Amino acid sequence: MENNYDVIIIGSGPAGLTAGLYAARAKMKTLIVEKNKTGGQISTTNEVANYPGSIQNATGPSLVARMVEQSEEFGAERKKDGITEVDFSGKIKVVKGEKGTYYAKSVIVASGATPKKIGCPGEDRLTGKGVSYCATCDADFFTDLEVFVIGGGDSAVEEALYLTKFARKVTIVHRRDELRAAKSIQDKAFKNPKMEFLWNSEVVEIKGEGIVESIVFKNNKTGEIHEHHAAEDEGTFGIFPFVGYEPLSEIYSGKLEMDKAGYVITDDNMNTNIDGVFAAGDIRVKSLRQVVTAVADGAIAAVQAEKYVEKNFEE
Ligand code: NAP
Repeated sequence: MENNYDVIIIGSGPAGLTAGLYAARAKMKTLIVEKNKTGGQISTTNEVANYPGSIQNATGPSLVARMVEQSEEFGAERKKDGITEVDFSGKIKVVKGEKGTYYAKSVIVASGATPKKIGCPGEDRLTGKGVSYCATCDADFFTDLEVFVIGGGDSAVEEALYLTKFARKVTIVHRRDELRAAKSIQDKAFKNPKMEFLWNSEVVEIKGEGIVESIVFKNNKTGEIHEHHAAEDEGTFGIFPFVGYEPLSEIYSGKLEMDKAGYVITDDNMNTNIDGVFAAGDIRVKSLRQVVTAVADGAIAAVQAEKYVEKNFEE
């Protein structure tokens, strides 16, 4: 029957696409529902250097394109829909979207995480007008302009390095005096002549009329406030916050067991607290959020979903 599936996978990042591949290959009637762009966070990454086998020019989008192709080859169906509500109380799980309602014997939640905001005035209003959370998507707009990257983790430093290929100067603004990023990435950043660092500094406001014109920093050691204005002949500059991620788990609140930050708790087999509902990828509580761990979760979740369906539904 239409809209009735053996397994519905919510999310089409590496975890969801891998779950789709494994489930479809096991001949389950499989639906992958995706809200926005296919691929999730990895599709906003320009270079994937640490996924085994992804050497030389492996970009996030190219890796995702191959994952999509492979899942479709085995027969996984994909639909664009924003899921707004789930009902996991019955034996048949109900997944409601903006465009339709879907039913399944099992569900794999793989909706991932999203970039955290700095949370300062002006940030939301000027998003897309100088503030961006995706260097791969928007670096080009800042060719020969100045750029500020906020954060000191792997994402901030890697994306800052990428931005140096476009911008005339990239300043990493970090709230401490020591980066959190891996030493190998730090070394590259310290050697890059286009890179500068603003330590012990927090962003307190972003200002501009329709476009970013200035940014206000506070030195958290001295309390000193400093407003940086765009160069007169440039008129604007870029701001890329990379201050971590938060799980996209709101619709599962009160249904799936989560930690304080909203990450879904599973066991080693990706089982959540509800029979027949699994979670995979960045939305889970885990120690390492990478493509390689997301795809592994996706594979395990699909195999477990197959076993669950076989045991509970097949005559
Ligand atoms: P992260 O490791 O959590 O780093 C977030 C950074 O933002 C930290 O430096 C943190 O400062 C800073 N920060 C947090 N909230 C802030 C705020 N409100 N204002 C200003 N700064 C703030 O996040 P991530 O870099 O996105 O990485 C997430 C995970 O993905 C990590 O496990 C990372 O290793 C992994 N990752 C790996 C790779 C790779 O291996 N190539 C690439 C990207 C990401 P503090 O340092 O002071 O806490």
